[in-house]
Amino acid sequence: MEAIGLGLEVARDMLVHVARGMEASKDLLTELDRAIGDSDHGIGMARGFEAVRLEIADKKYDSLGRLLQAVGTSLMASIGGASGAIFGTLFRGGGAGLQEERTFTSGALARFLTDGLAAVKARGGAKPGDKTMVDALEPAMIAARERASEPLHASLAAAAEAAGLGAERTAGMLAVMGKAKTLGERALGHRDPGAVSTHLILKLMAEFAAAPGAAGGA
Ligand code: ADP
Ligand code: MG
Repeated sequence: MEAIGLGLEVARDMLVHVARGMEASKDLLTELDRAIGDSDHGIGMARGFEAVRLEIADKKYDSLGRLLQAVGTSLMASIGGASGAIFGTLFRGGGAGLQEERTFTSGALARFLTDGLAAVKARGGAKPGDKTMVDALEPAMIAARERASEPLHASLAAAAEAAGLGAERTAGMLAVMGKAKTLGERALGHRDPGAVSTHLILKLMAEFAAAPGAAGGA
């Protein structure tokens, strides 16, 4: 691994690692959505990330933005429902400002999370505290911006940790978006499935960036 970040092929391999991890998280995410939703989140995310893996695994990309947008387009095309639009928008919106980047640095991570969060909020209208993936994504964005001058593995680790804490906090929130909103106080005590997915995506990225070779990378 380069000291300052990941080259395009290694970044692609990192996203393949994320895809495999999300496919393997199907049952966990389905269980979380069973508690407060309609039990389809794990199935959707597994199908979406399988499509991502098949799309990107053997392709070469000439910019980080185009790689991230290919991920978003695959998710949107294959998941359907709220999370296809939301997670597709995260990657497409997050990649929009990285069309000229050829290295995945901590600065690029901060840009990805900043632009991705703005796009998700514009698309879905969720605010922090609404018990959605925004409650994991926003603290991750803040952590990444605070560490934008540190090595990528450090900013990713901090972003993943912040997302995990944010996902934990959703257990104490009432849902105002999506299918969980009809549950009222019965949603209390359960983490939001999309917030947990957001944590997992960043955790898998962090894991890969800390040891690209060990995780099946370059
Ligand atoms: P569906 O709600 O169509 O069944 P999923 O179960 O796959 O879709 O995904 C639900 C997740 O999507 C929620 O846990 C939440 O994190 C996220 N989500 C839903 N609506 C929004 C929104 N408007 N903004 C942000 N995230 C949202
Ligand atoms: Mg659902």
